[in-house]
Amino acid sequence: MRRRMDRPFLGSLGRTERAVLRELLVRGPLPRADLARRLGLSPASITKTARTLLSNGSITEISAPGSDSRGRPGTPVDMAVDAYHFVGVKITGDQAFAVRTNAAGAVLASTHRPLTDTAVEPVVSLIIQLVNELSRDHPVESVGIGMAGTMDRFDTQVRNNLYLGWQDVPLAGMVQERTGLATVISGDVRALTAGVHWAGPGRELEDFAVVTIGVGIGMGLVLGGETVAGVAGGVGRIAHTRVSDSGPACGRGHRGCAAAYLEAGPIVRAVAYAHARPQLDLEAVCELAAAGDPAALSVLEDTARALGIVLAGLVNVLGLPAVVLAGDGLCVLEHTRPVLDRALTEHLDPDADPPVVHFYASDFDEWARGAAVLACQWLLIDPPAEPVR
Ligand SMILES: [Zn+2]
Repeated sequence: MRRRMDRPFLGSLGRTERAVLRELLVRGPLPRADLARRLGLSPASITKTARTLLSNGSITEISAPGSDSRGRPGTPVDMAVDAYHFVGVKITGDQAFAVRTNAAGAVLASTHRPLTDTAVEPVVSLIIQLVNELSRDHPVESVGIGMAGTMDRFDTQVRNNLYLGWQDVPLAGMVQERTGLATVISGDVRALTAGVHWAGPGRELEDFAVVTIGVGIGMGLVLGGETVAGVAGGVGRIAHTRVSDSGPACGRGHRGCAAAYLEAGPIVRAVAYAHARPQLDLEAVCELAAAGDPAALSVLEDTARALGIVLAGLVNVLGLPAVVLAGDGLCVLEHTRPVLDRALTEHLDPDADPPVVHFYASDFDEWARGAAVLACQWLLIDPPAEPVR
């Protein structure tokens, strides 16, 4: 049994108990009175809920050093973040990355493997191997898996994954059945957004978009403190936004499409063509730009300009005060930030305030960490009807 038995399954706690834990995770330690006010609970209700959570070890009291303030109403309580662990998995087109985190999203163990075969059964076996490896030394509450494709925020099926060629694969059930651990699936950008929101630079933010740059471009959205997935998980399709009347065509033949400027493939091809060096990769392009190479800088300036236009559109439509740029391809903006800022300002509505733009470099462990935070969010927000034991 890989889950600790002396504490209840996180997803089986009552609605009020889960609300208290969510508030503590996102806000940090709070006195009971503040918790009650924030959650609209009566003093009697918060006292009862806190007593339950203290007795099962889900929260602890934080006493000031040297003082005996235990049990007083003003004593802050905090979630016992190390009591609950989660496994997050990120599947790319050719690799699997997995981490084990605590409830605060701190990575405690990590591992990764190449995908030698992208068919369903070998990938599922690999995921199970990684989950078993990471849950051997500590019990785990739930597993979150992030991968490309259109999926709900908390889903059971991989709807369509172009990189693996998967269509409607009931992945959550397959992993759950063979590990005994509650498992949830989400789009990888939405999983990354979970990590940004609860355990990253979005922690203090109520409204923001996460825009990722790498092999593909994607977007996650948080409004009013809630992740917005849209109907059938459709929010975030920004790749084929038109940013120019001319310019290169994307893989779908759209002229001046954001994908043609922002995805790693077209960027690398444009610089490789200019230098007649077919073996380039994105890292090499960024190194060329850092060394002042005119061809690389010119291509990356177009990238920055296209991104500025896309971000301005998001801010104009959604009124966002902040945008978090993430993904493994952020190096493309290292030397072209002024171009991005200029394009963003130029295309903003005259009445719109410029957003704060955060840079959050994210390797694939960071995406896996997001999937672990997603697994925690699932249990605290919309847990499975039948607890998995
Ligand atoms: Zn396109």
